[in-house]
Amino acid sequence: MSVLITNIGELVTNQPERDAGPDPGGPGAFAAMAGAALVIDEGRVAWTGPASRAPAADEMADADGRAVLPGFVDSHAHLVFAGERGAEFAARMAGQPYRAGGIRTTVAATRNASDDQLRANLRRLAAEMLAQGITTFECKSGYGLTVPDEARSVSIAAEFTPEVTYLGAHVVPPEFDGNPGGYVDLVCGEMLDACAPHAQWVDVFCEQGAFGRDEAAAVLAAGQAAGLRPRVHANQLTAGPGVQLAVQVGAASADHCSNLAGADVEALAGSDTVATLLPGVEFSTRHPYPDGRGLLDAGATVALATDCNPGSCFSSSMPLCIALAVREMHLTTREAVWAATAGGARALRRSDVGHLGTGARADLVMIDGPSHAYLAYRPGVPLIAAVWRAGKRVA
Ligand SMILES: [Zn+2]
Repeated sequence: MSVLITNIGELVTNQPERDAGPDPGGPGAFAAMAGAALVIDEGRVAWTGPASRAPAADEMADADGRAVLPGFVDSHAHLVFAGERGAEFAARMAGQPYRAGGIRTTVAATRNASDDQLRANLRRLAAEMLAQGITTFECKSGYGLTVPDEARSVSIAAEFTPEVTYLGAHVVPPEFDGNPGGYVDLVCGEMLDACAPHAQWVDVFCEQGAFGRDEAAAVLAAGQAAGLRPRVHANQLTAGPGVQLAVQVGAASADHCSNLAGADVEALAGSDTVATLLPGVEFSTRHPYPDGRGLLDAGATVALATDCNPGSCFSSSMPLCIALAVREMHLTTREAVWAATAGGARALRRSDVGHLGTGARADLVMIDGPSHAYLAYRPGVPLIAAVWRAGKRVA
């Protein structure tokens, strides 16, 4: 069953002159065409081009001049948890600072929750994301922090996404107060053994109050030895060693990047490590935004992600991230949309999503507006008109 979507006002493909056959080449630079059409077949993009030259298909949908984009790729989210921290947010807005230790509140609630409660919460958040155009998402553990609680976290996450990240090294849990080395040993040993079968990625929160450079390096090395690929929570609250470590180990991404030294920007620009910016966090913690413009100007690859989590940013809205990136980090609308689609795909080392070249998975978002710029131009307005995932209309 093939579907032709025609009369597309602007089709964002992120795939300039790279359509060459059934194997997707992966996302390229931002690219878009006006007056376009797209054919979906067998869950893949089978054809894109001018609407006037579109081939016939079994079914037809009329975009009525609206824009169609690749589905958003959210490469950073923490969705396995219980409880909520609305009161902490309100207190923060009333003047209390954000600290990494707030994670412990969610750890306590998560440990007390049943598997079914965790699963139901994740199912609700995954549906919330999909309705807002996120067709691929990464999901981290990190609120269990015991062997069984981390193991069930990655196992439940794997029911919803292939992009599962083991984040046992999120924060040192209370029972290891005064013995962080003992906790790192657990994270690198028994906990890793229990989690690795369900995960693709290993991550560590490299930050004052969480894990220092050597501890973080040990966690990443152990994860890599177990077959997991590294990514790092880096330079969120302080200009620490996280970014340099991420680049040194060849991490797919260094996430946050809110406090960078010049050498950090240079290191990112000279590497394959994607700088993943999470502006919802700065919005929700009232911290200064990362220098997205500076990273792009230096030549770094930038992704945007939600960091949806109950503490520092309880938003699953990629359009909000795009609007913030444009307004607060001085990305152009094209750069922001690219970062939320192709950039996220790069951060997950995926070539089948984040673009709409021939052969890409048919993950599409149609927005109520004639161009991608509407995502920043009309902030806070629900603009997602339709969503397809793997060729199936899902919202
Ligand atoms: Zn995070």
